[in-house]
Amino acid sequence: MSDHIDHVDHIDRSGEPLVRAVNVHKSFGSNEVLKGVDLDVYPGEAVVLLGPSGSGKTTFLRLINQMETLTGGRIWVNGELIGYEERDGRLYQRKDSDIARQRSHIGMVFQRFNLFPHKTAFENITEGQLVVTKKSKKAAAERAWDLLGQVGLTDKADAYPSQLSGGQQQRIAIARALAMDPELMLFDEPTSALDPELVGEVLQVMKTLAGEGVTMIVVTHEMGFAREVADRVYFMDGGVVVESGSPEDVLVNPQADRTRAFLSRVR
Ligand code: ADP
Repeated sequence: MSDHIDHVDHIDRSGEPLVRAVNVHKSFGSNEVLKGVDLDVYPGEAVVLLGPSGSGKTTFLRLINQMETLTGGRIWVNGELIGYEERDGRLYQRKDSDIARQRSHIGMVFQRFNLFPHKTAFENITEGQLVVTKKSKKAAAERAWDLLGQVGLTDKADAYPSQLSGGQQQRIAIARALAMDPELMLFDEPTSALDPELVGEVLQVMKTLAGEGVTMIVVTHEMGFAREVADRVYFMDGGVVVESGSPEDVLVNPQADRTRAFLSRVR
């Protein structure tokens, strides 16, 4: 596809994936939401998760970020089992400090912007650096200015979230997540709460990040983004991955009836 940014060739799939999910199950009470999901994400890849509402996409992201706990299967991030450690063939729950460390390597951007309302854009970006990674004020400020430039909001450094548009807030939320130097970015429908005219500016920032080789998993209904930016697309329905492949494979030549039915509804 001519408008695809095509960094696929730069991705080395011969080594270890950055994220490996194997047979992931998740139930809430008797409601089994994920029924054995397998997914690999290689360093530098942009993976898009598509699927109807309720298919378990958000739950899957929340498991990777340990906002939920698995009821079956395993997830490794950068070679390390998350949530648990394995000793002598048995799984043990990790210590809270260990979980916090694992989570600190993952950036997450939510549908709602989740900025600290009483802090400026600049302070939102420096806060985690000062508190979590204990950077110096100078280093945190330098990084914040860099990131404000990257998301095109240098002139909004002193604005409070309420003074920013939804699109600007979401760009600050992305900058705040990047400030922690995550090895993986998770985006959970980052544009679905935005007015339509503000969607493009957020997708553009994400597209640029993908082009720079930031590894990301994106839950979105934005088909244009999936087509242009994704290296791999996973279509989920009913708690399973129905099919996965290149954007061309899944979006242009879907194999499964369920994928075709979904695509005909969202197009
Ligand atoms: P998607 O992101 O694909 O729309 P979700 O992962 O948000 O799907 O939700 C999948 C299912 O899991 C839904 O039926 C939802 O009601 C259920 N679910 C999600 N989170 C919880 C929770 N904390 N408690 C109970 N049920 C939940």
